[in-house]
Amino acid sequence: MAFHRQRPNQRQQNSQLRKKRTCRFCDNKEFYVDYKNEKKLQRFVSEQGRIIPKRITGTCAKHQRMLVIAIKRARHMALLPFVADAVK
Ligand SMILES: [Zn+2]
Repeated sequence: MAFHRQRPNQRQQNSQLRKKRTCRFCDNKEFYVDYKNEKKLQRFVSEQGRIIPKRITGTCAKHQRMLVIAIKRARHMALLPFVADAVK
């Protein structure tokens, strides 16, 4: 029965080795995505005004999607910059 042979799950082993990184929005229910709160959104935006990828912030896919929409909305409302000054 070669088809039913169990293979070791490498993905599961890797995730156990890595440090557990949880989504801030999943951890704290009061910490919800709000496009009107630019201070909160600024944590997920780099100095140049770019959205920080979820692999760095640890945000889950669901909340990262909501966050991207909120940041774009905040940019439209002129709460966040599209591009910050590159001159230092
Ligand atoms: Zn989440």
